[in-house]
Amino acid sequence: MEFEKLKPPEEGSKIEYADGRLIVPNNPIIPYIEGDGIGRDVVPAALKVLDAAAEKIGKEIVWFKIYAGEEAYRLYGSYLPEDTLKAIKEYRVAIKGPLTTPVGGGYRSLNVTIRQTLDLYACVRPVYYIEGVPSPLKNPEKVNLVIFRENTEDVYAGIEWPRGSEEAEKLIEFLSTLGVSIRKDSGIGIKPISEFATKRLVRLAIQYAIDSGRKSVTLVHKGNIMKYTEGAFRDWGYEVAKEEFADKTVTEDELWNEYGGKQPEGTVVVKDRIADNMFQQLLTRTDEYDVLAMPNLNGDYMSDFAAGLVGGLGVAPGSNIGDGMGVFEPVHGSAPKYAGQNKVNPTAEILSGALMFEYMGWKEGSEIIKKSVEMTIKSGTVTYDIHRHVGGKLVGTREFAEAVVENMHSL
Ligand code: NAP
Repeated sequence: MEFEKLKPPEEGSKIEYADGRLIVPNNPIIPYIEGDGIGRDVVPAALKVLDAAAEKIGKEIVWFKIYAGEEAYRLYGSYLPEDTLKAIKEYRVAIKGPLTTPVGGGYRSLNVTIRQTLDLYACVRPVYYIEGVPSPLKNPEKVNLVIFRENTEDVYAGIEWPRGSEEAEKLIEFLSTLGVSIRKDSGIGIKPISEFATKRLVRLAIQYAIDSGRKSVTLVHKGNIMKYTEGAFRDWGYEVAKEEFADKTVTEDELWNEYGGKQPEGTVVVKDRIADNMFQQLLTRTDEYDVLAMPNLNGDYMSDFAAGLVGGLGVAPGSNIGDGMGVFEPVHGSAPKYAGQNKVNPTAEILSGALMFEYMGWKEGSEIIKKSVEMTIKSGTVTYDIHRHVGGKLVGTREFAEAVVENMHSL
């Protein structure tokens, strides 16, 4: 593989992909992007924890620094150089910090571009409670969700034109021939949702629920209003369940009509909820929900909301998964006001690494990371975001990661 400016490490081996499975060596080369803002705080801290966890299970990660965001701009004159996309494609598994997206002004989000260019079609975010993290809920331990958000379509696909542009005017004119009247001073955005993208997302969510013994998959949509996009998402979701997982799934209707409300052993219940209702259900009937699958925009809102239920963005990890490829990143952004202050919580970045380990088949390592983070927070060693609510021993980003590694040694 030829890169313009990158020099891959000489040590380590590549992760391969064959017959639908990753083949992970004991010393994989893993590209990482530090990112913008607090990326420079949380990423180095997280890598130290991941190194320690890898060592504990007899493995070694060979890190390969690649660039996106401001650092990339300084080096390449581009915020997302071709080298970076090539490296992720070649090495298949990568971890990143947050990247800043300027609001308005013709910038497309780098995160969205990475997900779409590499066809990382599912944004998968587990949301569960870690003891010791302050939560606005009375019983936060009831939250145990995995959100599957479609990553490539919806109004997020970046198909939009500003007010007064030639394209917007053309579209407004064209739509008038279909009998649709749109104000001339409108900006226009398009919301495509396809059967293909919906089905592969829901397929992944159902397969995940089956593999991990989860009880239900809920399709979250606004199909009552947007019938042919969000409503179709629901219909195609049910179709996947029926056509591909008939012996492993029951619908909510079947559950009540045929099984008297008692879930048959070894099945996953597939149900759907309208998005606005889903928000309040997550608060009022939290433990009735398990795996959630939804289009892009719903997923964006709901992921942050769900993260808030268990203590906020500092602890919420995430992943972007395609076929044989994954990029792991925290849910939070680059929080520029805290950049370089050794202040913010690296937990979300560290737990994104735990997800990466799991994806690589290093389950034991993943558990070790999660346990050490939990021990650290439970012991009261915390960063400012947790400290301001519950007190304890206030530490910086680096020191928190060091405490996690220390606790790991005691496991
Ligand atoms: P943000 O960076 O996530 O920060 C919002 C607030 O969340 C912070 O002010 C802070 O709250 C809290 N927070 C975030 N990360 C934290 C951490 N590690 N530890 C403790 N608290 C943390 O959201 P934003 O200010 O809306 O976005 C800033 C930039 O990031 C934007 O350019 C946005 O586009 C980008 N972004 C990138 C990604 C990504 O790369 N995947 C994701 C989301 C946003 P307090 O102020 O209350 O302390």
